Amino acid sequence: MTSTARGTDGAIKRLGTLAVLLALSLRAVAAQTPAEYQRAVDAAYERYKNLHEGKNADYIPALAKVDSNIFGIALVTPDGKVYTAGDLRSEVSIQSVSKVFTLAYVLQQSGEKAIEDNMGVDATGQPFNSIVAIEQYKGKEMNPLVNAGAITTTSMIEGATADQVWSKIITTLSDFAGRPLSVNGEVYKSEAETNQRNQAIAQLMYAYGHIKANPAQATDLYTRQCAISVNARDLAMMAATLANAGRNPVTNKQVISYDHVPSVLAVMATAGLYDDSGKWLYLTGLPAKSGVGGGLIAVSPGKFGIAVVSPPLDGAGNSVRGQKAIAYISSELGGNPYAAKPAALATRR
Ligand code: GLN
Repeated sequence: MTSTARGTDGAIKRLGTLAVLLALSLRAVAAQTPAEYQRAVDAAYERYKNLHEGKNADYIPALAKVDSNIFGIALVTPDGKVYTAGDLRSEVSIQSVSKVFTLAYVLQQSGEKAIEDNMGVDATGQPFNSIVAIEQYKGKEMNPLVNAGAITTTSMIEGATADQVWSKIITTLSDFAGRPLSVNGEVYKSEAETNQRNQAIAQLMYAYGHIKANPAQATDLYTRQCAISVNARDLAMMAATLANAGRNPVTNKQVISYDHVPSVLAVMATAGLYDDSGKWLYLTGLPAKSGVGGGLIAVSPGKFGIAVVSPPLDGAGNSVRGQKAIAYISSELGGNPYAAKPAALATRR
């Protein structure tokens, strides 16, 4: 063999090795196929459909009457593909999941500093309706995803009348979901009749100067916002809008500017599952938010938004099946953002 031939041979071999390596690394970093997404969603549904742990919230009487068997899963990718399993029809009240989207609105309206300077962006380590957490630092060092911070966030939405503020809330949530949402009147009435604790929380935040005026109006608007009806697909679309840099992946509307998405996700990561937020983040790495209606959303930035609706809750107030199904699906699909590897290490496990 001439030396030139050997050289060519070596070069071809090296190219071959390079091609194999490239193919392997591409496979490791490539997005899953639609079939793999659907398989993960179906498998989670099968795994947990017979799990009946936990119980409906009952401190809001209307929530105790909701069918505990409702179990729907939806996952939406930034290209607008929707993967579902189970019950997509039944709607539950959005409850605390709404807090994420009023936060997004206020960040867009007033900027990051307004939230940071008002109720703060730290986990309280306390239940969502804790009064001790308010007292500890006079309504600071909290966050917009516990009741005190959320009612205060709602109070920051500008508008001359309650109706003007409400129209901003319902428009924002509908834009995130990509369809016009509405309020479940029975849930709203039931909570409005029994929300004395939230009224007290709002008065306290007013007393400490975080709510500037009219705490009763802020509580009422917050109660209405919590009673908005959603199904699993709506919630997944809302989460996917955050996963897609603030743009709804189906309607293509830029609902909030990309600049504010990281702040929203950061607060979800620290405080989305109340006093179990650390445990959840440790397990999944996903910014998420639960509601006592049984909804749970999670965001894998740039990859997918996911949601489960299943009313029975654990002791911290988080949907039992929701947590299990989302953790399972995300681990199947490599959703944990903290597991990201530099491209050079993509083939190494
Ligand atoms: N509307 C409910 C409340 O204020 C929301 C709580 C929740 O979902 N964690 O109590």
